[in-house]
Amino acid sequence: MAKLYFRHGTVGSAKTLNLLAVAHNYRQQGKRVILLKPRLDDRFGTSQIRSRAGLQMEADLLVDAATDLLVYNFSGIDCILVDEVQFLPPRIIEELRTISMKQNIPVLCYGLRTDFRTHLFEGSKRLLELADSIEEVKATCHFCNRKSIVNLRHVGGRASVEGPSVQLGAEESYYPACYSCYTTQLAESGALQETSC
Ligand SMILES: [Zn+2]
Repeated sequence: MAKLYFRHGTVGSAKTLNLLAVAHNYRQQGKRVILLKPRLDDRFGTSQIRSRAGLQMEADLLVDAATDLLVYNFSGIDCILVDEVQFLPPRIIEELRTISMKQNIPVLCYGLRTDFRTHLFEGSKRLLELADSIEEVKATCHFCNRKSIVNLRHVGGRASVEGPSVQLGAEESYYPACYSCYTTQLAESGALQETSC
């Protein structure tokens, strides 16, 4: 049985760069990898997996709520790599678990653990429950030098916890933050009381 991996990190932790490096290494050895990503993540065009450092590869398969991964025959594939895994439904995580077990293919999933309200994404929650290996891809807080553990959202230059957890294309930016800077930033913007419960 091959393993299911969850490599989580905040924004800016080079998760996608890490994923692309793994894909590159496999391919350089003449091995076959499949790259998956959620269909909704279309920041960089429909099928590109692009890191902030500028490297990119084409995704082989875009996954959404209608996808049934179990109908695919992945025989001959050496590794399945998943980008932005937090956006996948729990059912897809369960299918990846089954594929790693029954088809004996390692599945490496990269994504955020929590949203900008510090709550687990559904896909990440299921991975924390099912993965053989859980690893943190570390990054430094944008505002100090501690390790970042949460994602702070700015809308119009101000820290905010309002709005849906997936808001693609909005005028917003995300920063890796330690919990101290996260709460300080939200308090300064007057948004802290919204997270207190
Ligand atoms: Zn900090």
